[in-house]
Amino acid sequence: MLVCVPIIVILAFISQARCAVVLGNEVVAVAPDRRVAEAAVEEYFTRLERITGMPVKVKGEIKYRPVWKFGTVAGKEEIQRNLAAKVDCRYEATGIFADGKMIAAVKDAKAAKKVLDTLLHTYDNDGAWKVSFKQKVELKPVEVAGSDLMDPEEAVEYIRFGGTRASTYEIKEGDTLWDIAAAVQLPVDKLLQANPELNPETMQIGQQIKISQTCPLVDVISTYRDTRREEILYRVQERVDDSLYLGERKLVQRGKPGEREVVYNVALENGVEIKRKVLKQKVITEPVPQIIAKGSRKLLAFRGGNSRLAYPTVGAVTSPFGNRHGRLHRGVDIAANYGSPVVAAEAGTVLRAGYRGAYGLCIDISHGGGVVTRYAHLSSAAVKPGQRVERGQFIGRTGSSGNSTGPHLHFEVIVNGEHKNPSLFI
Ligand SMILES: [Zn+2]
Repeated sequence: MLVCVPIIVILAFISQARCAVVLGNEVVAVAPDRRVAEAAVEEYFTRLERITGMPVKVKGEIKYRPVWKFGTVAGKEEIQRNLAAKVDCRYEATGIFADGKMIAAVKDAKAAKKVLDTLLHTYDNDGAWKVSFKQKVELKPVEVAGSDLMDPEEAVEYIRFGGTRASTYEIKEGDTLWDIAAAVQLPVDKLLQANPELNPETMQIGQQIKISQTCPLVDVISTYRDTRREEILYRVQERVDDSLYLGERKLVQRGKPGEREVVYNVALENGVEIKRKVLKQKVITEPVPQIIAKGSRKLLAFRGGNSRLAYPTVGAVTSPFGNRHGRLHRGVDIAANYGSPVVAAEAGTVLRAGYRGAYGLCIDISHGGGVVTRYAHLSSAAVKPGQRVERGQFIGRTGSSGNSTGPHLHFEVIVNGEHKNPSLFI
C-alpha cells in the first residue's frame, strides 16, 4: 500500500501533462496537448495571412512547453484570442459602419465594396429589384487588431447573422412547445435553453417566453413594381316581383366577376414583404351584378273573411268532400293545370313535405289550435318540414303524383284529427 499510493499519484500527475504556448518568455495559453496548441497557432497565422494578403512576421519565437496543470485548459478560440492580444499587430483596414457603429473590418475598400455588393445582391432578385440598406452604411479607414480583420466571405456571414434580437412570445390556447418553436423559427432545445423554467406540462396561456433570434446587422430593403390582374367581386341585388308568389325566388341575371389590372409598389425587408401599396389600377371589365327576383304575390281568400283559409290554388272545386262511389272523399279536388302554384291556406309550420303513398308528393301544414291543412298530388314542393310559412306563401306546384287521374290539387282540412269539409273553410 505504501508503495502503491505514490505511484498512483505520480501517474495521475503525469496524465495531467498539458502543453503551454509560449511567445518569447510569456505563456500565451495552456492547451490540452501539443497537437491542439500547434493547430490553433497554425490556423491563426494562416487566416491572418489570407485576410491581410501579406506574410505575418512575429517578434520573438513561438515555443511549446509541457506543463502540469489541473482544471480547465484553453481551447482553440481562447488560444487564438490570447495570441492576438500578445502579438499586438495593428492593421490599416477599411471599416464597415452602420449608423455610425463599426460592424466589420476588411483589408481594404475594394474588399468592403465586395461585402456590401454581396449583401445587396442577396435580395435584388438577380438585379430585377431596387435594393438599398435600411441603415446609413459608410466605409472608413480604421486600424484594427489582426483578430478583428475578416475576409469578405466571413464579413458577409457575420453581417447577415451576427446580430441578436430579443423579443417575447405569449403562449396562446392550444400551443405546444413545438408550435411555439415553429412559430418563432427556433429549435425546441434553444427555446428551452433561453427559458429554463419552461415546462411543457405546466405552460399557461398568456405566459411570456423569451425569444432570442439571430438577425442581420444591416437590413436590406428591396422594392419592385408588381402588376397583376385581379377579380372584382359582383354584387347581389334582390328585386321584388309581384308576378311571383310569396316565397318563390327566381334568378333573373347570373352575376359575373369583373377584372382589373393593379400596379403595386412592394417593399421587402431582408426578403420578407413589409409593405404593398396600390400605385394605380385600371378596370378591364366591370362586374355584372347578380339579380334575384323575390315573389310578393299572395293568393287571396276565395270568399274573403278574416277567419277563412286562403284558397290554396287557382281553379274550381271539381270533386266535393263526402261520399264518392261508396267511399269517403276526405278533401276537395281543385282543378288546376299541371305546375300551377299552390299556397299556404294560413300561416303555420310545415309538418311534412314528401311522398306518401296514394297522396303522392304531399305537404302538411299545422296552423295551431289543432288545425292542419294537406296539399296532395303535387309536382314540386318549395318548403321543408319545420319551416315557417305565411298565409298565401308559395309552397309548391300542382301535379298528378300518387293515386291521381290527372293534374289537380287534393286539399284537406283536418281539425283535431278529424277530416272536415274544406269548402266550409275556404
Ligand atoms: Zn281528392
